[in-house]
Amino acid sequence: MAIESVNPATGERLRSFDEESPDTVERKLARAAAAWDGWRRTPIAARAAVLSRAAEILDGEKDSFGRLMTLEMGKLAADAAAEAHKCATACRYYAENAQAFLEPEVVAEGPGSRDEIQLQPLGAVLAVMPWNFPFWQVIRFAAPALAAGNVGLLKHASNVPQCALALEDLFRRAGAPDGVFQTLLIGSGAVEKLIGDDRIAAVTVTGSEGAGRAIAAAAGRHLKKSVLELGGSDPFVVLPSAELDRAVATAVKARTVNAGQSCIAAKRFVVAEAVYDRFAAAFTQAMKALVVGDPADPRTQIGPLATASIRDGVADQVAASVKAGARVLTGGRALERTGFYYEPTVLADVPADAPAARDEVFGPVAALFRVRDAGEAIAVANATPFGLGAAAFTRDPAEAERLARELAAGSVFINGMVASDPRFPFGGVKRSGYGRELSIYGLREFMNVKTVRIAGMA
Ligand code: NAP
Repeated sequence: MAIESVNPATGERLRSFDEESPDTVERKLARAAAAWDGWRRTPIAARAAVLSRAAEILDGEKDSFGRLMTLEMGKLAADAAAEAHKCATACRYYAENAQAFLEPEVVAEGPGSRDEIQLQPLGAVLAVMPWNFPFWQVIRFAAPALAAGNVGLLKHASNVPQCALALEDLFRRAGAPDGVFQTLLIGSGAVEKLIGDDRIAAVTVTGSEGAGRAIAAAAGRHLKKSVLELGGSDPFVVLPSAELDRAVATAVKARTVNAGQSCIAAKRFVVAEAVYDRFAAAFTQAMKALVVGDPADPRTQIGPLATASIRDGVADQVAASVKAGARVLTGGRALERTGFYYEPTVLADVPADAPAARDEVFGPVAALFRVRDAGEAIAVANATPFGLGAAAFTRDPAEAERLARELAAGSVFINGMVASDPRFPFGGVKRSGYGRELSIYGLREFMNVKTVRIAGMA
């Protein structure tokens, strides 16, 4: 696959890059190994200072980083600048908390003896990342990894090479020593060999199920630790006691964030029959009213999809769902204009085996499901191979507790939309992957949790 930037709003090819040669990759691996030896011994405060400087740069240049995201993958300008700012908050979070997170846990201490659990970094972590949040996904792995004394090698998605290079430059400018964070401009075909290299300690992937399977299999063959952050088909449950206006407004936002290209976008709307008709009418009207257009224009609410093949994939999934019996309430077509646009779409009566019910739809397409009560809502919400996030709207406290307990997902949000936050672990169950990012749980993924028992010193 070519490594090139194509503006999704226009289809114009902006830049293309040759894949790096095996010699270049070899040099970068050697540099990473050498860098780790110094970085793991660097005081935590000095590593934290690099992250603090990265945060300042991200905030100071959020508009220009944002413009790069908009150009390469079509994110709305305001959202792109907000993404750069969110990256700054994650860098600050780990800069402020690294010392406490890495403190040894003393189990017993006596005269001349000390038993404790230490956290020590594993080495070079290879990160295979997606284009949809081209800065955030990378920072989410890099900030805890670097704070903890690991070094990072980024293989970014092939359609966002300029973002990938900007991230490498960011850490260089923040003062990270040579080799602590490097970008590899390589295709997915080069990943397995890299995982097999002794200088790679672990691998983290955020992407599709297919990428997850291939990378986890390679990591398994080489007995390397892996973290998988894969796809989702998050349910959004609306029960009779819900504040309906708020549920509708949140549903529109939750489905159309990043033009629908978010792993935690709500994709299946599971609505109790007592409020179904009112919800469906208001939601459809709001989806229909969204302004689709140039992502750089501040009036735009839905930009293009990131590539022509993603747009075509969404169109195929909708067509197959309609063929299986789904009814189109609004939308249902790719827009006939320059750029990779797809209409905001609402589908009702979606059969359980149609793609819009069964698979992940990575675009502004909502599937509605009518259920009798909370029990059936939970069953329909959980009838998916994925388990990333889940949102539910209710004002009944007992129902809220039940939903939080029963929804099979890595995150459950009651009366709000699922979102990531550096303070909370992020990840999934079932085919959404394993392992966690963010919070102390994310930092611990790539650590040697070492038992150290010292006696006889008295
Ligand atoms: P993708 O096609 O799987 O690509 C993700 C990354 O994996 C890219 O760097 C890609 O490289 C690489 N890749 C793909 N197949 C590979 C293989 N067989 N071996 C090694 N590397 C491989 O996914 P995407 O279209 O970029 O991103 C969308 C997906 O990411 C969605 O499913 C979404 O739900 C998921 N996602 C999950 C999370 C989460 O936290 N759970 C967050 C965001 C997105 P190339 O670009 O060179 O092909």
